[in-house]
Amino acid sequence: METTSQDRPLILLADDDETTLDLLAMHLADAGYETIRAANGIKALAQMVEYQPRIVISDWLMPKMNGLEICRALREKQGDQLIYFIMLTVQQNKEQLLEAFAAGVDDFLSKPFHQGELLARVRAGERMVRLCDSLATRGAALARANTELFQLNEKLRQLATVDDLTRLPNRRQAMSRLHELWAQALRYGGPLSCAMVDIDKFKTINDTYGHLKGDEILQNLAGVLSQTVRATDAVYRIGGEEFLIVFPQQRAEKAFISAERCRLEVESSIFTGAPGPQKSVTISAGLAQWTPQMQTLDDLLRSADQSLYAAKEQGRNRVILSPETPVPVQDLRASETPVTGGLGALTELICKRR
Ligand code: GH3
Ligand code: MG
Ligand code: MG
Repeated sequence: METTSQDRPLILLADDDETTLDLLAMHLADAGYETIRAANGIKALAQMVEYQPRIVISDWLMPKMNGLEICRALREKQGDQLIYFIMLTVQQNKEQLLEAFAAGVDDFLSKPFHQGELLARVRAGERMVRLCDSLATRGAALARANTELFQLNEKLRQLATVDDLTRLPNRRQAMSRLHELWAQALRYGGPLSCAMVDIDKFKTINDTYGHLKGDEILQNLAGVLSQTVRATDAVYRIGGEEFLIVFPQQRAEKAFISAERCRLEVESSIFTGAPGPQKSVTISAGLAQWTPQMQTLDDLLRSADQSLYAAKEQGRNRVILSPETPVPVQDLRASETPVTGGLGALTELICKRR
């Protein structure tokens, strides 16, 4: 119990002199304070633990443990709450007073005490206790508000960057990451590739099996793509049934292998799960690599988009490499298939390998 029924701070009186204790208790009771008492230092500490008084009035000289020792022990164990300590003194010299302040004593009351002075000093202590309590309450409220703000910020950040259905990073994130990689490619000369991915005939799937099934397929697709690409690559949901895979530091022919793996994995692992015209889900992808001729990020995305369009045109369920892709000379030399025809040759070569 730390306050009395009148919401007054509870006061602990510690003195080995019974008469002083009686007098103190009587005057304080008259002023509306509730007190508890202890006849020596050890008992005073025990009372503090049990009742947690907010003001202590203690005699300096007591058997077993004197007032200074009580104060030091109290300050050592004191938690967040202020406990106001008033020391009763018979005339003390300056050095002793300084020692008491250093031990954590807040105020002094000379013995024999004057009733008015006793109450004035106790009221000053009460003001301090209330002030500290109200500061602590405000501090706790501020800490709570801070935590809520932090959680809200985190939620906002998630809403702004993560797609709700698939939990993949969204278009905004994709663009921000691509801008970073674009700057790196410009500075260090690439490579950088990306694939625009789109579900084939998804409208038919939705119409046949329902929108909920469509949503489930989108979620499964997100999982399959994320698990199939390398840890350094990233998958984004950039539209309804459109995804973007970003391949940092990868040439298109390497990225093509990843995109092909994704296509095959989707075809063999995502099913509509119900009888109907379309049992498995397939995707088409358009792959593009950054070239120094590209002026903006849009050029790279447009290149990937055009290849996706070509993939749809050529019958879907395929990955098409952009004809703008720079041809890696050493790869062509190593190839067993004779390749002719300049820049479009690699596309042809890879399409043949499908
Ligand atoms: P294509 O092979 O040419 O890409 O044909 P498609 O039917 O996939 O393409 P189209 O653009 O005609 O249709 C896309 C469909 O994707 C239509 C729309 O209802 C569906 N879709 C877009 N977002 C969502 C979504 O969040 N959930 C579900 N279930 N369907 C979606
Ligand atoms: Mg589609
Ligand atoms: Mg589409």
